[in-house]
Amino acid sequence: GKQTGRNNFQFYTPAMNEQALERLRIEGDLRSALDNGEFLLHYQPKVDLASGEVVGCEALIRWQHPQLGMVSPARFIGLAEETGLILPIGAWVLRTACTQCRQWQLAGHEDISVSVNLSVGQFLQKDLVSSIADALEDTGLPPASLELELTESLMMTDVEHAIGILAGLKELGVRLSIDDFGTGYSSLAYLKRFPIDVLKIDRSFVRDITIDADDAAITASIISLARHLKLRVIAEGVETDEQLDYLRHYGCDEIQGYLFSPPVPAEKFEQILKQERVS
Ligand code: C2E
Ligand code: CA
Ligand code: CA
Ligand code: CA
Repeated sequence: GKQTGRNNFQFYTPAMNEQALERLRIEGDLRSALDNGEFLLHYQPKVDLASGEVVGCEALIRWQHPQLGMVSPARFIGLAEETGLILPIGAWVLRTACTQCRQWQLAGHEDISVSVNLSVGQFLQKDLVSSIADALEDTGLPPASLELELTESLMMTDVEHAIGILAGLKELGVRLSIDDFGTGYSSLAYLKRFPIDVLKIDRSFVRDITIDADDAAITASIISLARHLKLRVIAEGVETDEQLDYLRHYGCDEIQGYLFSPPVPAEKFEQILKQERVS
């Protein structure tokens, strides 16, 4: 009756309606965004602490929506995963990043590498290894200049399968990095079975490294673990000189974060590379 109807109706607050509508709208728009050329990549420098030089960058997707403006990946990557759109989007990211990195190399920055984030959907794709091989061949980027950032959960969904894929990727000569290290559900025992090259310490540990003894201990332990396993270790989300001092003290190899630079458009990244050469 009326009562039930009213109660049911109370479930849908205007705010929830708006959220649901926005979601629907974003999902619809996501389908045409690739064809409309609305995606772009920003690049965040990675700095080697021993030399002080920019050694590479992480490619991070941005969506220039015609009405909503710049939409952050947090708002659409999950949706892209659910709808399967992550496959064409991920393929576009990979090719664009490889093409761009090759251009920087040809412009005289021979040692620059680029990191690309891989999503679960991409990782489980049957032809992942061959599609990455094709992208490298077509763009001319040396395999060693491409790093793939993978999350622990992505690798832990099916460990044996993951080890096979990782071996195939290693054979290509690309570098493999575990992203957000320490936040996922993974067993240290697998670390020696995964043929990876880099551990990336999650921003959540770096953030409070100077004020929280636990976060400092976890960070120091990850760095020590990486050294013993002969892996490189990079810290993300470095925002202050104090955090940098800690990371340097513990022996971290590379840093990435607002302290040095936020993610920037390609032209800006090239300026950063040029400035560096002069100094
Ligand atoms: P992530 O892979 O952990 O990337 C690092 C995020 O931290 C980026 O957010 C970056 O802009 C941000 N960040 C970097 N330095 C700092 C800092 O010093 N302080 C703070 N507060 N933040 C910092 P962004 O670009 O919004 O990307 C968010 C996430 O979206 C990424 O997290 C990644 O999981 C996903 N993502 C971004 N681009 C792609 C892509 O091309 N493909 C896939 N599959 N995922 C992507
Ligand atoms: Ca990443
Ligand atoms: Ca991540
Ligand atoms: Ca992260």
